[in-house]
This record gives sequence, structure tokens and C-alpha cells, in this order.
Amino acid sequence: MSDVAALSQQLLHFSPDALVAVDARGLIRFANETVRVVFGHSPDGLIGQPLDVLLPERFRARHATLLAEFHRSPHSREMGSRVADLYARRADGSEFPAGIRLAPFEWQGEQYVAAAIRDATERRAIRDALVVARAEAERANSAKSRFLATASHDLRQPMQTIRLLNAAMRRLASGCPDIEDLLQREELAIEAATRLLDGLLDVSRLESGAIQPQLDDVPLASVFADLRREFDSVATARGLRLEVAEPGAMLATDRLLFTQLLQNLIGNALKYTERGVVRVTARLDPEYLEIGVEDTGIGIPADKLERIFDEYYQVDRAGAPRLGVGLGLAIVREVSRILGYPVTVRSTVGEGTRVAVRIPRQALRSDHPNAAAAPIAGFAAPGRLVLVEDNASVRAATELYLTVAGYSVMCAASPGEALALAPQLRAGDLLLADYRLGTEMTGIDLLRRLREMLGWEMPAILLSGDLDSLLRVVKAPIPSCRFLGKPVDTGALTAAIAELGESPVAANGTGG
Ligand code: ADP
Repeated sequence: MSDVAALSQQLLHFSPDALVAVDARGLIRFANETVRVVFGHSPDGLIGQPLDVLLPERFRARHATLLAEFHRSPHSREMGSRVADLYARRADGSEFPAGIRLAPFEWQGEQYVAAAIRDATERRAIRDALVVARAEAERANSAKSRFLATASHDLRQPMQTIRLLNAAMRRLASGCPDIEDLLQREELAIEAATRLLDGLLDVSRLESGAIQPQLDDVPLASVFADLRREFDSVATARGLRLEVAEPGAMLATDRLLFTQLLQNLIGNALKYTERGVVRVTARLDPEYLEIGVEDTGIGIPADKLERIFDEYYQVDRAGAPRLGVGLGLAIVREVSRILGYPVTVRSTVGEGTRVAVRIPRQALRSDHPNAAAAPIAGFAAPGRLVLVEDNASVRAATELYLTVAGYSVMCAASPGEALALAPQLRAGDLLLADYRLGTEMTGIDLLRRLREMLGWEMPAILLSGDLDSLLRVVKAPIPSCRFLGKPVDTGALTAAIAELGESPVAANGTGG
């Protein structure tokens, strides 16, 4: 025998895996020396025995099926790779987790299968540990999302109080420039904290899987028009041109989520552009509708593009102030996942950025009338505000702010107290209530009940710490009723009050 032939025979016998050759009838025709180490069988003793002797009895039937499958389509592969836990059996009857690879070959006109068997105890243990670790990580991640959602939601209440107190103090401090300046700075900090809480609440809720998209037929033009209204003044203030297309398409989409996605992209484009234009486009392709948000801004370095969708990631721009909190694109990422609209970014530093949102064509609808929002009836007579709020500190702060702003306020701590005020109410009074009132009765129930008792359509503003979820629950618009998110923006609150027909009675001359 040549040296090489002798060497290959040694190699075969002492290979790290136990090797056996099995003929077409499933009988072992060769076994190497490693079989002795792995199975405790003498190689010669196995010759002529069925391969089954190396498997525990409970696997034998399955093994016969697998081997027959293998003979039907013989190519090299792992045996039972779809069988999660394959075990082999030692001569002493003990079992061990096994990895078995099969390879077909032909010898002297007969079909054979070579089987390499190794003890997979360690590999299986590692795999099991990974499965456990992964489940653990998923549990921790969802606990984190739930914690963040709850914490950011609950922090809105005290934030609301601080915001209202600040607004009240600003009114009282008019004429004291130093104090006004301090309060102005405090207001900026409150706004930043509110944005952070909003972002945290959004990301954690989206991540936690609690949000299911609610599809409605939505005219794309009306979403774009809302966005233009929202961002026009921001663009003007930054000396930028905002160009928004007027597409005719109708989409089956979740209006709130879709709007949220575009708000974040347009907000970023405006934030990171010093001069030039921000453009929102829509282009139809055979496979998708592509919405583009492009800017002529500072751009994003190529090596950072991967990371900008991570929570809290912000591109470090030597010395430049940070303009956000780093959650906008994490929200975009989650909404894009939930809606199934892939988002891609192209950018050149110093030239600008283009973000493309691809909406699959199946989401396109046609022939849908543009539903225009019904105008809200105004109330000419100056009336009073009926404030219903169960949280004492928020109630006191809101009352203080509204009184300072010149409104006449009646307070109730519960729906029951509000209903007890009904005999004193007159046309022109407006209800300002939390949606959640800490009782069985929601703000909407209270409004309905009051309207029934009064016999006229009392206008109302309902506040909610979770406006998005509330808007999902309230399907049909309620006439003369506005919904605002908490912490409430005092400007938005007074605008809504004015829109519903109230004006400050200006008893103390500070109203406006
Ligand atoms: P932020 O609150 O910081 O804007 P985002 O998650 O929205 O957080 O964005 C992450 C980072 O990506 C930003 O900090 C910014 O550096 C970069 N970025 C996002 N959009 C743009 C854009 N249109 N132009 C330039 N940079 C952008």
C-alpha cells in the first residue's frame, strides 16, 4: 500500500467524527475506529447490523422515514435538520444529542450512504442557552418598552401642571422683563421635556406591539395639505421654501401613523437645512407609490446612514448644537415596519438628503370622495368654561391659567360635580374636561349626558394624555367638540376655545 493510501486509511479510522457506510438496505458495511470512542461499539461488531442500532428506539421509525427521504433525493446534508433534537444511543444504552451528516456515494455499482456522527452535547447546550437568552432579552425589551410607555405617559400629568403654571406666571409677570425672560427660558425647557416624553411614549408604544394599524381610505392630498399647514410657519421662520405636491391618490392607510411618519421626516428636513428648499413629492411607479422628502441641507455622512434609525442616535457635528432628542427616525423605523412601507435614505454631505417612502400599490384606492371636515358651529355669546379635572394640582393650575388669561371658570372635580352644575349653565358655556376622569364615565359620556340635560349642544374640549389612542376610539366626529393632547399647549388650548366661540370676558384686562 502506498504511503498516501495508508495515511488516508488512518485518517478514515481516526477522523474526529464516527463514520459508518450504510448500504441501500440500511445495513452498516463499514465503521471507523472513532465509533468505539463515540458509541462504545467495536467497529467490526457493527458490520451487517442496521443503522438503527446506533439510535434510541423512539427515533427508529422516524429514522426509517428520513433515510427513505434521503434515498429519494440523495445529496449531502444534515440528517433531520428539521428534527429539533436528534439523539444517538451508545452500546451501554445511554443517549447523547447527535449531529448526523449524510453523503451519498456509489461503490462497485451499489448505492451507499456515508454517515458522520458527532456528539453534539456541547453544541446543543449552547443552542439551548441561546434560546433561553433570546427569550430573556425579548422579555426584558418588552418590559423596557412597557416601563417607558407607562413612565412617559404618567409624567405628562405633572408636566401639564408645570406648563400651565408657567403660562399663568408669564401672564402675571408681564411688565417685568427679567422675570419674563426667566419664564420664557423655563418654557423652552418645558417644551424640550415634553417633546422628549412624546417621543419616548411614541417609540415605546410602537415597539411594544400595542399599536395595530387601522386602515381607512385616506386622500393623500388631504394628508399633504395638513402637513403643509403644520410646517409652513416653521419653514418661513427658518427662511426656507416648503414645496408640497398635490397628488390625487387615495390610500388605504392608517392616517395617524402615516402622518406621524411624514411629520418626522419633514421636521428633520426643515431642522437640518440652513437654506434652500424642502420638497415633499409623490411619484407613481408600477410597483409602488413613492413619497419623497428632500432637502438642500447639511446631509448625512455615508458611514452614519446605518445608525440614524437607532434610538437616541444623533450624528455628531463638531460643536453644533443638538437639534432634537434622537427619537424621530426611530419612530419612522417603527411606523415603517408596522405599515409595511420601506424607507430608504440617500444623502450627500453639504448638498442634501432625500428620504423615500415606498407604499405598495395594493394600498392604493380610487373613486373616493374627498371627505371635507364639517365646520364647527360658533357661539357668539361670551360664556364660561366648565373645567372638569380629577387631579387637584392640574385642576388648580388650569383654573389659574384660564383665569389669568381672562376666562371665567367653573370647576368640578368629578363628572357628578359637573352634572350638578347643569342648572346654572347657559348657552355659550363650554366644557373643558379630561377624557379619562378616573371614573366609569369618560369625558365623552359626560358631554353626552350634559347635552341631554341641557337640551342644547354644549361645545367641548376634551383632553387626553394619549390622544392617538383616543382618536382611534372615536370614529365619528362629535359636533362642536375638539380633542387636544396633554400636556396641553396653551396656545392650542386658547385657539380651540376661540374656535368654539368663546372669548375671554377680560374682567381683569389681561385677556387676549
Ligand atoms: P433628532 O431628534 O436628532 O433629529 P432623528 O432620529 O430624527 O433624531 O435623526 C437622527 C439623526 O439623523 C439626527 O440627529 C441628524 O443628525 C440626522 N438626520 C436626520 N434627518 C436628517 C436630514 N434630513 N438631514 C441631515 N441629517 C439628518
